[in-house]
Amino acid sequence: MYEHSHLRNEQRLTAQATSDALTGLPNRLKLADVFERERAHALRNGTPLALVFIDIDHLKQINDRFGHDVGDHALAHFATVLAQRLRSNDLFCRLGGEEFAILLPGSTAAQAYAIADSLRERLAAAPLPVEGDALCMTLSAGVAGFGADGQSLHELMQAADRRTYAAKRARRNQVIARDDKPQATAQA
Ligand code: GH3
Ligand code: MG
Ligand code: MG
Repeated sequence: MYEHSHLRNEQRLTAQATSDALTGLPNRLKLADVFERERAHALRNGTPLALVFIDIDHLKQINDRFGHDVGDHALAHFATVLAQRLRSNDLFCRLGGEEFAILLPGSTAAQAYAIADSLRERLAAAPLPVEGDALCMTLSAGVAGFGADGQSLHELMQAADRRTYAAKRARRNQVIARDDKPQATAQA
């Protein structure tokens, strides 16, 4: 009896430590753990692996206009809409705040771009009902590929984060998978 409930308790504590209470998604501890496993798999088998960094657009405006509880609903809505479209071995996690990541084992950066862009479209087409209105949410995202952008989670995050901010600077509601080329023609 004791042994059984003790084990269940331990499983519950592990699940709590690696998941986010608001969205129910895995957190960054879980991402670090799964990344090591998938990295080893990719190196051993020569298979692709991609990372998508996602930042919700203008969440602060939603909080300011409708209150923090609606902001929380917006976060949960975002997580539900995206999770519906992912495969079971894709790891969708909340990094913190309104920042998320998806680790895509077996996907190249080009494939990850296509997936992220379809998630972007899906979110824009699934408004959140608020006070009898429909609140449109959008996301900005950056994609990084294992190998081309580095072999550590830190390097992939840096590249994906940099591209997400390029998407923010451009016009938001978009996904970027590569860095802008240097302005060679302007120099010439
Ligand atoms: P941008 O398009 O530039 O990303 O704008 P933004 O407002 O989404 O980004 P900014 O970094 O300026 O602000 C992030 C906002 O996200 C502010 C913060 O209160 C909100 N936020 C972060 N975590 C939570 C949360 O758990 N619940 C709620 N309601 N809001 C959150
Ligand atoms: Mg942010
Ligand atoms: Mg944001």
